[in-house]
Amino acid sequence: MQPSLEKLRKFFRLEYDNGYQDRAVIGGFVKILDLWQAEARNESVPEEILQAVAACLRGYHDLTPEARAEALKTLWKQIQEQTATRREAQPDASPASSPEPSAAASGLTLQPAPARRERPAPQPSRPASPPGPEKGRADLHPGGRTNQTPIALNASLTVLAGIGQSHARDLARLGLRTLGDMLYYFPRRYDDYSQLKPIHRLNYGDEVTVIGTVQTVTSRPVRAGAASTMVGQSPTITEAVINDGTGGLRLTWFNQPWLANRLHGGDSISVSGKIDQYLGRLVMNSPDWEPVEVENLHTNRIVPIYPLTANVAQKWLRARMREVVSYWSPKLTDHLPESIRSSAELPNLKTALLQVHFPDNQESLRAARQRLAFDEIFFLQMGVLRQKRDWQTAAARVFEIPDDWMEARLRALPFELTGAQGGSVADIRKDLASGKPMNRLLQGDVGSGKTVVAALAAAIVTEAGAQAAVMAPTGILAEQHFRNLGQLLAGEGRLRVESVRLLLGDTPESEKETIRAGLADGSIKVVIGTHALIEDPVAFADLQLTVIDEQHRFGVEQRAALRSKATNPHLLVMTATPIPRSLALTVYGDLDLSVMDEMPPGRQEIETHVLTPRERERAYSLIRSQVAEGRQAFVIYPLIEESEKSDLLAATAEQARLQEEIFPNLKVGLLHGRLRPDEKDAVMLRFREGEFHVLVSTTVVEVGVDIPNATVMLIEGANRFGLAQLHQLRGRVGRGSAQSYCLLVPAHEDAVENERLAAMAETNDGFVLAERDLEQRGPGEFLGTRQSGYAGLRMASLSDVRMIEKARLQAQLLFERDPDLQMPENQLLAEALKRFWGNGKGDVS
Ligand code: ADP
Ligand code: MG
Repeated sequence: MQPSLEKLRKFFRLEYDNGYQDRAVIGGFVKILDLWQAEARNESVPEEILQAVAACLRGYHDLTPEARAEALKTLWKQIQEQTATRREAQPDASPASSPEPSAAASGLTLQPAPARRERPAPQPSRPASPPGPEKGRADLHPGGRTNQTPIALNASLTVLAGIGQSHARDLARLGLRTLGDMLYYFPRRYDDYSQLKPIHRLNYGDEVTVIGTVQTVTSRPVRAGAASTMVGQSPTITEAVINDGTGGLRLTWFNQPWLANRLHGGDSISVSGKIDQYLGRLVMNSPDWEPVEVENLHTNRIVPIYPLTANVAQKWLRARMREVVSYWSPKLTDHLPESIRSSAELPNLKTALLQVHFPDNQESLRAARQRLAFDEIFFLQMGVLRQKRDWQTAAARVFEIPDDWMEARLRALPFELTGAQGGSVADIRKDLASGKPMNRLLQGDVGSGKTVVAALAAAIVTEAGAQAAVMAPTGILAEQHFRNLGQLLAGEGRLRVESVRLLLGDTPESEKETIRAGLADGSIKVVIGTHALIEDPVAFADLQLTVIDEQHRFGVEQRAALRSKATNPHLLVMTATPIPRSLALTVYGDLDLSVMDEMPPGRQEIETHVLTPRERERAYSLIRSQVAEGRQAFVIYPLIEESEKSDLLAATAEQARLQEEIFPNLKVGLLHGRLRPDEKDAVMLRFREGEFHVLVSTTVVEVGVDIPNATVMLIEGANRFGLAQLHQLRGRVGRGSAQSYCLLVPAHEDAVENERLAAMAETNDGFVLAERDLEQRGPGEFLGTRQSGYAGLRMASLSDVRMIEKARLQAQLLFERDPDLQMPENQLLAEALKRFWGNGKGDVS
């Protein structure tokens, strides 16, 4: 028996001698718990025992002496059974460590210890695991070698007892196919039932675990009145009363008649749930319960709650999880080298996985989550660093341009560049002259003037006779770029009009032919378009610059496809979504960053108001008066069609209502995502040309659209949107010189939501809003389709800046030492990294 268990037995003995007054330890048993657990864990006492001891001792003080006696006896029995099964598995276990083998059987569990102190206590640190007999179970023990770990984790779930083909199919719907999947299937949340309470101290509303002895069990049909509304079998109520020596508690279950056969008078059970009130007495409705001999898995602890699917019940899954996690996680070898773990102050992988599923306490849960989150960010960073290095080792065409050429181009612009624009242009100029492919993210708030920066980049490249391609996510945007870029590029006769072309999906085939031919023979220098650009037959004579606008709208494959049209082209990606710095460094760490945090002069702040649904009429009158002044308005809805589940007004229904009831004298257009691209473009065109006064739309107008005459942006269901997205939508107005307005109407009068929205009224600064959004809603909004590495983020919160910095630092240090992870101590890490990135197909740009 391990010294820690021996110690426990002595304490229990002392407690027995003292009549269960909880005086064996000064301050009560709980005081030794942390220390004891650490010690026991060191001695490899099975986690099950640690759990059981913790659960028992934590609530110990609150029990009556009788209940305490019962609790310690049960616990000790459990410990003996556990260690007995261990001994079976390890027949050579030192005889000194198996005292009183008959004790468990005789039930006199706590009696035998006294006056044995002189017996040589087993001193070796891991007496229960002698080296010899381990061999037969080599596959279960990681101690020695490594590659067994992944193999075992790849095992299908059907290797588990009780999981056949049909369970396996159900679990597959949760993404659970292998043992490894199970280990990394994290709880959605936890219920903390670890605080045991005696019945006489219960209060209404408590969420607790209570242990008691069943006094009575009854089951009866619900009275006719209630039953008559039900179809089929008449419903039943099962009631039980338990008593813990301090009082009785009534438990009720609805429609679980079989419980009457499962619960018996005299049984000790542990129940967890919420304390309710019925006819002035405290009751617990539909509690989770289990017999107390069973390890406290579903109650009396911090209980993990997993996401479920049809045919997979919480309790069942939790029990399977328990098996897998307690059996397999101790057998894992940590892929994170010890040096990194200790300098980042992280628990090891075994502990983290055990604790994230079945935490001992809130603190170890937090530490476990930190560790698992660290892994994810760390992997992400390693991938990003490698990507960046790969790009930087490639060679690219050098484009150097004289200063006076640049000055002439700038003089030809209709305005002077802002400082931020100037800085970005300088960054790009340097990149293009570096001989390495540019990989730059140009980040600038809506309206900060990214287009002209892109135009100058294209001008540098085309000046040398090479080609540039600009890809936008929608036809509307591509067409807008075509007009603006065309003007900027063709100014001063630098490029002939015919050498700047627009290629959309619905461009007539004959024209597409001409454009393809021009791109192939090099007579077309700049092509602007949508996905049509990356469709196969488009080939370039000498593509040297690719520009991707609103890059979060594009998938990794699409960017890769565009880049593959050339060898090592320079790449400029632009986004109007202000990305908080911590996130930008993580997610876009492979790209160099230019930030345009300055607006062209003369911009008006957009006046923003949060209105309650009842104040909607005010919004309508503002729209009427603005239209009377010749302006236009957007009305945005979050959904296309009314769904039963949601009280949100649907754009289609609303367009009709607004047209008929609210603005009968105005023309109200409709734009939504179900329209074909050419239909969308047609609607936008009619709006731009003033044919509609009001455009009802879903969020498809979100990006980049420039309608300077629109001055009102009314957003319905505003609570549905993140601040960053609201800011994007707001950016659709205020593009001209007139005062513009943004009106936010949440779907209901929810104070919390409205407070969040109030931030929109406080600031027009996209970065400030982005930071808040990240805090409040997490990173989803910023990631867009840049998903390759992010599907792997299950634990990491990208808003945890300290964690990100820590992981970045460690990744950088490791990358400097061993960029390709070739050192022997980094082999496991290399494998884990490969798994994380899906075997290296991660183009993360
Ligand atoms: P975004 O960054 O949102 O793509 P655009 O490039 O569409 O912004 O620019 C928004 C508007 O600002 C355009 O009408 C553009 O002509 C104008 N603009 C850009 N830069 C300047 C500047 N330095 N001074 C004045 N107006 C500018
Ligand atoms: Mg733009």
